[in-house]
Amino acid sequence: MQRRGEFRVSVSKDYLVFASAHFITFAGHRCEGLHGHNYRASVVVEGALNEDAWFVFDFVELKRIMRRLCDQIDHLVLLPMQSTRVKVAEEGENVTVAVDGAPRYLFPRRDCALLPIPNTTVEMLAELLATRLLAEFEAAGARGVTAIEMEVEENFGQSATYRLPLG
Ligand SMILES: [Zn+2]
Repeated sequence: MQRRGEFRVSVSKDYLVFASAHFITFAGHRCEGLHGHNYRASVVVEGALNEDAWFVFDFVELKRIMRRLCDQIDHLVLLPMQSTRVKVAEEGENVTVAVDGAPRYLFPRRDCALLPIPNTTVEMLAELLATRLLAEFEAAGARGVTAIEMEVEENFGQSATYRLPLG
């Protein structure tokens, strides 16, 4: 059979959540106070059919990886390490956070996720999770994936999606 179409598989599960604290900075000098969300991640993977198995990617494996990515940042304070305004410093067992030069928070290091992003917006979280998923695919030797689309929702009906096309 000649195959003309393309395949997309998606995973969106109630357990792909991370309950985390964060605050974001806005243009100018505005900055939110610390608060939390029950974030929810879902993913779409596009790719060629694995013609040994007749699937794009194993759902069991995809769910397991997504669960691990969520668990890595669950129940933590999400902090941006690439911000020009939020300065995060590790000091022994603690992490200190300053915003625009003014000290603001002190957290136990074990309660923080220090993330390689400039701001903890859902856009940046979606990009981060997509990048981490790609690394998992590469480690697993997955071939044929042509795009990853990661959605992170921070409230009902309020989410960002990042699409990562792969060469
Ligand atoms: Zn928020």
